[in-house]
Amino acid sequence: MNEPLPSSLLAPRPGAAALPSVDRVLTLGFVPALIARFGRRAVSAAVRSILDDKRRQIVAGVTPEAAWPPGEGWLESELRERLAAAAAPRLRRVFNLTGTVLHTNLGRALLPESAIEAAVMAMRSAVNLEYDLESGTRGERDELVEDWLREATGAEAATVVNNNAAAVLLALNSLAHKREVIVSRGELIEIGGAFRLPDVMARASVKLVEVGTTNRTHLDDYEHAIGPKTALLTKVHTSNFAMQGFTAAVAESDLATLAHGRGLPLMVDLGSGALLDLGRWELPSQPTLAESIRAGADLVTFSGDKLLGGPQAGILVGRAKLIDRIRENPLRRALRVDKVTLAALEAVLRLYRAPESLARHLPTLRLLTRSRAELTGLGERLLVPMQNALAGRAEAGLRDCESQIGSGSLPVDRLPSLALVLVPMTKGRGSGTALKALEASLRKLPLPVIGRVQEGALWLDLRCLDDEAAFVQQLPWLREN
Ligand SMILES: *Cc1c(COP(=O)(O)O)cnc(C)c1O
Repeated sequence: MNEPLPSSLLAPRPGAAALPSVDRVLTLGFVPALIARFGRRAVSAAVRSILDDKRRQIVAGVTPEAAWPPGEGWLESELRERLAAAAAPRLRRVFNLTGTVLHTNLGRALLPESAIEAAVMAMRSAVNLEYDLESGTRGERDELVEDWLREATGAEAATVVNNNAAAVLLALNSLAHKREVIVSRGELIEIGGAFRLPDVMARASVKLVEVGTTNRTHLDDYEHAIGPKTALLTKVHTSNFAMQGFTAAVAESDLATLAHGRGLPLMVDLGSGALLDLGRWELPSQPTLAESIRAGADLVTFSGDKLLGGPQAGILVGRAKLIDRIRENPLRRALRVDKVTLAALEAVLRLYRAPESLARHLPTLRLLTRSRAELTGLGERLLVPMQNALAGRAEAGLRDCESQIGSGSLPVDRLPSLALVLVPMTKGRGSGTALKALEASLRKLPLPVIGRVQEGALWLDLRCLDDEAAFVQQLPWLREN
């Protein structure tokens, strides 16, 4: 306590005293234009931080003349640079060359043009979000998409919330509050980012009743677990892992028959869920919404931004009676979607009415079905510009690779693809550091490029590269960074 201050702090610092005050700098002629653009508070803070840096330099021995040269030009550009850097948008466009088409950390599905236009319209204008244009009375926002969803899934009714996690939470809370919900032990999943089914159940105030074992669950496991407190049978799509070997699970149709025989509903969390059979495009098959409904599921939940290829949303389809109960839950208001999401979702659903041209209009499907020939052409055009940009630093070559759909769709299925593979010149010791530096350089590009590290190289899977011109144009930056 109260130790004497180090003498260096008490010593006079004649140089630092020669620096102007913040207020003095703020009177300079170029300042008003900066204030108009960045705001007074940000400009003051930037001036202060430059003055602090200069003061430190002077204390460290730099002469006041060198730290604060005459003229204002250098000060203006330094201020402008700092202010621009601090004001730069945090959310930025990137190239997703990870090989995971629906990458949760990179924003999942890319929206089709028609959805982008619809979203922009809804952002810019007043819209009939909850207004019936025919009668001039209050409407229900779900009606904007309900017909499309009924048509695509065969369900009686539909409602939309913020994401599938919200859909599951809301459905459980609406249909089984303080009662029991039966789930197979093989389906108690964790989806990345803290969606763990048992935790969601607890927060929904329902009691989880686990049945079966990790690898095998049979119909009579469910049957024995049904009691007076049971409210719901559930089936959860094990979307991000696959079980092999001695396994058994009960089909949705058998579970539906059991549930209905006991007067209970069956809920299915399909996770990704496809509206159409992907086999049509020679992609690995994935359970569809219509199949679940046909199998007898009374309520099915799925994500808007996974295989559907739309905006982030959680969609619930099923029996009108159950959807009505969900609509009555006050939690729904807390989880509802906005007009921008609904506008985009409606446009995406409309595209599904013409499956013949879906792969052309829906980016998710277009990327998933990109032909080998197209990828090869792209790779051959990119190879030389990439080699030039990395000359002396890394070798670039084309290699076969495998993309995945991502976001818990088809965890084991892979799509054959092509990658630009970058191998640092540094071998042996230091090769790891060189690889990390290379990765960082690509991330520092004006449009950051995100690849994946594998076998001592950086792999850029070309499947999701669709703006070739923008990609090539920025490559020369790699020589300087
Ligand atoms: C992805 C997924 C979720 C979570 O959906 P979000 O839309 O990311 O909230 C829940 N359940 C399953 C089975 C999933 O695959």
